[in-house]
Amino acid sequence: MRLKHLTPALALIVLAACNKSTQNEVAPESAANIVDSTNTETDYFADGYIPQACIDMTDTTDDSRLQTDAVYEGNHKWANGKTLKIFFINGGDYLQGKVMKYARKWAEHANLHFVKTDNKAASDLRVGFKVNNNKGSWSYVGTDANNHKGEQTMNFGWFDGKTEEKEFSRTVTHEFGHAIGLVHEQSSPVAEIKWNKEKVYAYYKKYYGWGKKKVDQNVLYKYPKSDVRNTKFDPKSIMQYPVDSALTRDGMSIGYNYYLSAKDKDFIGRIYPD
Ligand SMILES: [Zn+2]
Repeated sequence: MRLKHLTPALALIVLAACNKSTQNEVAPESAANIVDSTNTETDYFADGYIPQACIDMTDTTDDSRLQTDAVYEGNHKWANGKTLKIFFINGGDYLQGKVMKYARKWAEHANLHFVKTDNKAASDLRVGFKVNNNKGSWSYVGTDANNHKGEQTMNFGWFDGKTEEKEFSRTVTHEFGHAIGLVHEQSSPVAEIKWNKEKVYAYYKKYYGWGKKKVDQNVLYKYPKSDVRNTKFDPKSIMQYPVDSALTRDGMSIGYNYYLSAKDKDFIGRIYPD
């Protein structure tokens, strides 16, 4: 019974859910931003900034995400044309406004609509900022939110009054990609990233405090083709994590994606057509 997820970037679609993390898990965080000044390894990201990473949430049990026999091939897609009602658990007008602005970037290409509601019981998505001091950003995938009525379904862990506009774009658009059913692009069955796994584990351990399993689930895992719909691998997708060249065997790298890619727009339009 559990769902699984899918996803990628937009690419993949929607439908799925994400990882299993539990709501209490400390998310990725931001330890991330804190670059150890004694660190002499300057090879990670040229500007020394370690990007924060989101975790997608799924209703899978602990390790079912990696058990293909536990995959639920249900559809995490919302009804086409649906108006998703968003209830904010906290946050002022400024932050809530940024969330609505970038959530609606998807509505420019998908037959979905996003509105705020003060009626929690009637809401589809329940969004908060650093709820219970959770400094991670995460979201349930698609209709998995329906399995958590009355609970928070999305968190933004690192926004404040100094957050740059493009960071609002990057993170809000990404989380709402999950909320409408997308999973990470690096988890696409056709993702073409030649990971140096040992370096990937060491990197996420050092900067995010993630154990091997979490790295497997959020970074290295690739969905079976039967679980998802996907585009060709799209390194420009808003659902793709940045990838440092030090983490790949062939030196390939992927920068920060702040906006919907051409494939993101086209794909979501086919998933939620007018
Ligand atoms: Zn994500």
